[in-house]
Amino acid sequence: MTKKTVKCNFCGLSEDEVPLMLNSINGVHICSSCVKQAYKVLEQEGLVLPSKTCSTPVGNLNLMLPTEIKQKLDEYVIGQDEAKIALAVAVYNHYKRLNQKTEDNDVEIEKSNIIMLGSTGTGKTLLARTVARLLEVPFAIVDATVLTEAGYVGEDVESILTRLLQAADYDQEKAERGIVFIDEIDKIARKGDNPSITRDVSGEGVQQGLLKLLEGSVVNVPPKGGRKHPDQDYVHLNTQNILFICGGAFEGIERKIAQRLNTHTVGYNNVQTRHNLDSRNLMQYVQPQDLRKFGLIPELIGRLPVVTYLHPLDREALRNILTEPKNSLIRQQKKLFKMDGVELDFTDDALEAMVDKAVERGLGARGLRGIVEAVMTDLQFSTPGTDCKKISITGDYVLEQLKKSEVL
Ligand code: ADP
Repeated sequence: MTKKTVKCNFCGLSEDEVPLMLNSINGVHICSSCVKQAYKVLEQEGLVLPSKTCSTPVGNLNLMLPTEIKQKLDEYVIGQDEAKIALAVAVYNHYKRLNQKTEDNDVEIEKSNIIMLGSTGTGKTLLARTVARLLEVPFAIVDATVLTEAGYVGEDVESILTRLLQAADYDQEKAERGIVFIDEIDKIARKGDNPSITRDVSGEGVQQGLLKLLEGSVVNVPPKGGRKHPDQDYVHLNTQNILFICGGAFEGIERKIAQRLNTHTVGYNNVQTRHNLDSRNLMQYVQPQDLRKFGLIPELIGRLPVVTYLHPLDREALRNILTEPKNSLIRQQKKLFKMDGVELDFTDDALEAMVDKAVERGLGARGLRGIVEAVMTDLQFSTPGTDCKKISITGDYVLEQLKKSEVL
């Protein structure tokens, strides 16, 4: 007598073709693949919570100690120790959280999304990008200013996840443990304290939209971006293990911080504290309540528990940025010339002249790249093909080139 092959009553596959077949007492069978599929449908319908046991395993994640993360960040980012430490700890905890076993779930470690304050060109994006590179996870940068509340001209908040999906080459599992950097978060601050008659679709509306992404939920993501529409296929991305890092210049927040510090420092006991304050850089005293005063809604602040700041870059920092990081602009130039057999060096005067220009432009380190390019383009054009073996860039040459580039 031949044995009857058991087949799944849902997909029709036989026992040998599936990992596991479940049998009911009345002769109905379902395979493990169909059970998984059914669970996904329940998740999408919101009938079960996204399963932790189904979430991405992080076994192969490049988990580093906070001290190691900081050390590595030091190779690429100059200064900003407070931000580096806050980031290293938050990232470490975040990935520890991903590693927590299901049975440990009695104490649930919450997400450690981060908000970084600091003027433009101080290294916010660089820090976030470097962390993602260290951990070898997908990384996406989005600009909060292009986002609007669903239904208005602009991009839906879900487009943030489209970028991440693209950065992960559409590998959903990888995307689900990536890092997203939301830049210019300060630009979506609520416009005023009073609710206005017109809807604040690019401010508070976007903040509301971001909440569900930041806290962790299953989000319908249009894989090709663009507006959501009913006939589109969506990828159901779980944001529970995605780390969000927000950055912004928060211009003017110092005033709010000063107000708070002043009101708090009234009274004899606090005089000492008041004297110890570094009034040139009040951003270092930022507290969540200042963000609220600035116009972020409390729900959003609550989902960004790690608040840190970056220092404005002084002359010394700018000069170090030119030469110190592993892939500093000067090292890159030297390498480019070395490929043509030319040894390139810069005198101290030359470096100082470039720093002067960067300070004058007031763009932080962001201005340095353009300055170096302006100084070097002529030589990059004329040197290849000659028998020149050594070039020394002097202060005078820098000034001459910069003058020329500004006249053009
Ligand atoms: P932000 O996001 O704060 O506006 P970025 O991180 O985009 O600034 O910095 C712009 C560029 O300036 C970076 O690509 C980097 O080369 C350089 N830079 C800024 N800050 C630093 C720093 N602290 N250390 C090294 N390079 C820096």
